[in-house]
Amino acid sequence: MGRQIVTILGATGSIGINCLDVIAREPEKFQVYALTANTNWKKLLELTKQFQPSTAVCVDEQAAEKLSEELARTDLKTQVLYGNKGLESVASANEVDTVMASIVGAAGLLPTLAAVKAGKKILLANKESLVMAGELFMSLVQQHQALLLPVDSEHNALFQCLPNHHYPQQDPSKGYIAWHDLGVEKLILTASGGPFLNEDLGCLANKTPEQACSHPNWEMGRKISVDSATLMNKGLEVIEASYLYGINPDKIEVVVHPQSIIHSMVSYRDGSVLAELGNPDMRTPIAHVLAWPERIYAGVKALELTQIGRLDFQAPDHERFPCLKMAFEALEQGGTAPAILNAANEVAVEAFLQKRLPFTGISELVAVTLDKSLKEQLKIIHTDSQSELEHILETDTQTRKLAWKLLDKAVGSSKVIADEQLSSRGQI
Ligand code: NAD
Ligand code: MG
Repeated sequence: MGRQIVTILGATGSIGINCLDVIAREPEKFQVYALTANTNWKKLLELTKQFQPSTAVCVDEQAAEKLSEELARTDLKTQVLYGNKGLESVASANEVDTVMASIVGAAGLLPTLAAVKAGKKILLANKESLVMAGELFMSLVQQHQALLLPVDSEHNALFQCLPNHHYPQQDPSKGYIAWHDLGVEKLILTASGGPFLNEDLGCLANKTPEQACSHPNWEMGRKISVDSATLMNKGLEVIEASYLYGINPDKIEVVVHPQSIIHSMVSYRDGSVLAELGNPDMRTPIAHVLAWPERIYAGVKALELTQIGRLDFQAPDHERFPCLKMAFEALEQGGTAPAILNAANEVAVEAFLQKRLPFTGISELVAVTLDKSLKEQLKIIHTDSQSELEHILETDTQTRKLAWKLLDKAVGSSKVIADEQLSSRGQI
């Protein structure tokens, strides 16, 4: 068999770099076709020199020009593209077998869908695309016979623990029933609890972006690090798991497990619980999906349970982590509610990282944006996937506008959103 030809969307990020680390260990098995970045042309230049892809894409046009100029000084033949068209073109190119979807946030949706529509093998790290467009995404996977493999450590663990790696995505109408027939009772997602698990509740408002981004177990990009600190990451993952595996929210449980050694579990009818364990290192799930169904070295240290000594578990504290409950509620609500939740959260996290919003303001801004957006939401019956996608993208745009507007109104106030507005949170 020839080498697997891979495009990495978001190559300069934490997942992209980990993916390249695994690929570099197995040059006989993998060949890089394209690498992409948003604006970071310097990092992309360094990676292009090392991996010599056919194409490099910078979304930002000026960054792409700079990259071209620098590449012209080398012997490399790499062509440079820019913009979202560039991303979509390398995600769907004929030469490509596999697409690592590791752009952060809603920006990952269209390029990942381009790979889906081209029937590629997709290694999905960009959970936001499933959160925004879960049903549409999964129906396009089925329609175009793409192979969707989960990179997110929890979903990858579930994939390894579910029976026969069988997906209800092959028949989404069956949904949970298909799993129930196979004896599956429940999916149990583990959450580390992030850096503020045991922090005094009264101190949370003063937490800085630097503190929120120093995760105890995983080294990740800034957005997902903040999401881990609020537990919105686990909320997004509950939604991701529900769409990916066709499982109802009441069959998904979240357990806080601070050591992050068990990455998730499947509970079966006969009382068996299957778990996937390992050191917290994203190269494990990345290597698993790159090589699946084979196994390759990932550069990850073997797990030494006697050194770890103990594994702890506790129920999530919803007062400390209101985002988790909001995500469950958005999933129950369905339609565009998860897309609204996602857009509001992206704005809130960005505002927090820009120090325009206190840490506790993230969940407050999401709650009030969700509440207002859901009231204004139109129920639209879609005749085709294109109109459904346009509706999702429009919802994303409108929600962002609203969230920034609500934020601007509240600027200057340490308590970002008024209490009377917050009291309507229960309605979603
Ligand atoms: P990151 O911030 O480290 O990297 C993001 C990548 O996306 C970069 O290459 C960046 O250039 C690119 N990008 C950013 N904005 C873009 C835009 N508007 N258009 C095109 N490209 C853009 O993020 P990360 O931590 O690697 O996370 C990537 C995705 O993987 C996220 O969806 C995250 O939730 C998911 N994920 C990450 C981890 C992890 O350990 N980092 C684990 C599980 C899932
Ligand atoms: Mg995860």
